[in-house]
Amino acid sequence: MSCHKSYITTPIYYVNDVAHIGHAYTTIIADTLARYARLINQDTFFLTGTDEHGQKIEEAAKNRGKATQEYADEISAKFKNLWDEFDISYDKFIRTTDKEHKIGVQKAFSVMYQNGDIYKDKYKGHYCISCEAFFPETQLVDGEFCPDCGKLTSIVEEESYFFRLSKYQDKLLEWYRDNPQCILPKSKRNEVIRFVEGGLNDLSITRTSFDWGVKLPKEFNDPKHVIYVWLDALMNYVTALGYGTDEANMEFWPARVHLIGKDILRFHAVYWPSFLMSLGLPLPKHIGAHGWWTRNGEKMSKSKGNVVNPKEVADAYGLENFRYFMLREVPFGGDGDFSQRALIDRINSDLGNDLGNLLNRLIGMSGKYFDGLVESNLVKEFYRKELDEVNSSISKLEPLLFELQLHKYLEELWRPLTIANRAIDKYQPWSMIKEGKRDETMALNGLIATILAKVSIMLHAVMPKSTNIIANALGFEINPKSFNHIIREDKILAPFKTKKREPLFPRIEKELLEEKKPQEEKKEIKKEPKTLTLIGIDKFFETSLKIGTVVEAKEVKKSKKLLLLQVDIGEDRPRQIVAGIKEWYSVDDILNKQVCVVANLKPAKLMGLKSEGMLLAAKDSSGLSLIIPEKPKVNGTPIS
Ligand SMILES: [Zn+2]
Repeated sequence: MSCHKSYITTPIYYVNDVAHIGHAYTTIIADTLARYARLINQDTFFLTGTDEHGQKIEEAAKNRGKATQEYADEISAKFKNLWDEFDISYDKFIRTTDKEHKIGVQKAFSVMYQNGDIYKDKYKGHYCISCEAFFPETQLVDGEFCPDCGKLTSIVEEESYFFRLSKYQDKLLEWYRDNPQCILPKSKRNEVIRFVEGGLNDLSITRTSFDWGVKLPKEFNDPKHVIYVWLDALMNYVTALGYGTDEANMEFWPARVHLIGKDILRFHAVYWPSFLMSLGLPLPKHIGAHGWWTRNGEKMSKSKGNVVNPKEVADAYGLENFRYFMLREVPFGGDGDFSQRALIDRINSDLGNDLGNLLNRLIGMSGKYFDGLVESNLVKEFYRKELDEVNSSISKLEPLLFELQLHKYLEELWRPLTIANRAIDKYQPWSMIKEGKRDETMALNGLIATILAKVSIMLHAVMPKSTNIIANALGFEINPKSFNHIIREDKILAPFKTKKREPLFPRIEKELLEEKKPQEEKKEIKKEPKTLTLIGIDKFFETSLKIGTVVEAKEVKKSKKLLLLQVDIGEDRPRQIVAGIKEWYSVDDILNKQVCVVANLKPAKLMGLKSEGMLLAAKDSSGLSLIIPEKPKVNGTPIS
């Protein structure tokens, strides 16, 4: 038996989020791996938790009129409660506001600094508040929008500590090359390799623009800096094991698998291994990145009102049925679609017909012919071929699981059920018993019981409670000992007696949840923060607003959003303004229109073009509208 250690993690979930099917999916995969690892007697540590620092949390708390910690406590508890209701078998639930975590992050910062990987400099760049990340100009969409979330970035300059990410480029490439399985699925590994080959810039790892985070270690004597949320967050994987405090559990490191959604792959596959190399710690064995879920083929969004609430689905259809569905339905790494129809099909067909019904057939036949007794000692004598086929399928399973090919795992696991159902049709126990072949008939029941036993053990990590019920009906318990006997050593099942029982997976005839028709995106006006900051009139007049006329308009090449305008605001020459209005205004629409211009904005470059002002506009979900004077005005007229 392996004395292997299995450390399995989910990402720590961001407390500015509501738990959705994606969170449930990641966590259920991790739970399945952890349960399996325990079943094969591996020393297992399963970590989940919440990510609670950063500007967004600070702002969200403020908007709700709450203390930041209080807000974080509330949302963190929601995640924890959901996982408890979902019977997630985590060993630790970490919070980045935990004291031990903060100590560990500070220690890591010091160690990286001592190793020469941290230096102080100035940072100026395009910053996305929503993603809490800087992006190089080359990555911006249309020269100004965040490549990850599409929101407008702003130029931020601040003093910052930097991590020498560039130093690790070659070492990372070497790691990807020498460990073909380090990033799963493999297609994702190729994406990461291409990204790193493109060159790595050093990474700004502190912020001075907000306060809610881990401070630098005292010896730096630099209290205005807060450690970058991603360094803080990624460190949870080792601080949860006591890094920097009580390090006893560090023996679980390196992680066997970090499960993540594909949106955070770069942080895990590029930054995290570099941080670890700097700390002199071994690298994780696998980073598994899964895809997105849609609903009935449509992207889920709050405004469409079609977000799948995992709790609602589990309550209606059964938690374990939902677990099975998610793991069976999608190839890991690919995108998956949730529909009640597909879920019902899986429950009725795979679980009801193939698995549940087989148990009922066994109970029926053994009850009718043998007063409920099932003995398996003659299985090998009469059904060697079937048993060999079954064992060949079972032997393929474990590697599939740890390569995260869960849909293939379950597909392969269903083969023995097919073999069992086929054997019943082929050997026709009802005829055999009439011909007096009692041994053959008993052995056939034994074969079915053996198959059900093996399948329930191998399915246990996915459906713990249902498989316990099956095992109980077959007179044994699922645990590392029975795993060894029945799976590894192919030992015979002890004789047992069956009892009549209700079907395990009752047929579901119709959809159990009301399906909201995906609505039009709600016409939502961007909300002002609840607490308005009041300003004096002098502050308002710091902005110079003027009427102008668009005297020339051109499209900006390769840009879907930008128009290049010359706007006469009564100066000796027109101002050049690059405006992101092309989705709503054509060159012809805008030409000769009067507009309102912010005239004292610092010039900026967009797509390499100088922009010397900004047009006033209002935007809601129905589109963008320029603000224009109600009656024509002389160019240069001030607006007040
Ligand atoms: Zn963004």
